[in-house]
Amino acid sequence: MDNTALTPAARLAEVRANIAKVCKPARREPADITLIAVSKTHPAERIEPLIAAGQRVFGENRVQEAQAKWPALRAAYPDLELHLIGQLQSNKAEEAVALFDCIHALDRPSLLTALAKAMAKLAKPVPCFVQVNIGDEPQKGGCALADLPAFLEAVRASGIPLAGLMCIPPADIEPAPFFGLLAKLAADHGLTGLSMGMSGDYETAVMLGATHVRVGSALFGARA
Ligand SMILES: *Cc1c(COP(=O)(O)O)cnc(C)c1O
Repeated sequence: MDNTALTPAARLAEVRANIAKVCKPARREPADITLIAVSKTHPAERIEPLIAAGQRVFGENRVQEAQAKWPALRAAYPDLELHLIGQLQSNKAEEAVALFDCIHALDRPSLLTALAKAMAKLAKPVPCFVQVNIGDEPQKGGCALADLPAFLEAVRASGIPLAGLMCIPPADIEPAPFFGLLAKLAADHGLTGLSMGMSGDYETAVMLGATHVRVGSALFGARA
């Protein structure tokens, strides 16, 4: 995908057009899919052209990096929405709740406890996606498939707003079966939110029901 010669606004239009194109056969509405522009590693100067082009939802994977970049941008553009898409350490839960509007990597009981405490303390309920280790990869974050029913039960009991399920399929394998499995798990548990699909596979994810796609390099170019 070499669209590096395009302006950020043109890349955004291209990604949105690609989403609209697959919505048609999937009988879905583009408005039902939230495009999260993943701006990790990119400075504010690279982000502002996308804001100027109308993008409002952004994703970061590190609390510290987001703390350095986003307060100024949010002050300048009060209608922005910021999502935390990366793994979260429990000791950063309060900072994450303070800064983000949505968290995509809730995957273990210790983090659930920390987030529930932080949300109560700050009186700020932040919707969370439960990340599922969909490919059963030992090195990857995410709740194990076998633990998912009990963990979802615990999240519901905590009162934390449950947005849905999130996954990052194994690299270098066709992702569609994993997206399909995540969609089935969500349906089985009465959940509608599905955070799945990145630059290389967001169209496939939309075909299979993604409600949130997390797209970085297709919008910003390759990361250093
Ligand atoms: C970096 C990242 C993305 C975006 O990846 P691209 O391939 O650049 O689109 C999506 N999701 C997560 C969890 C990420 O860390």
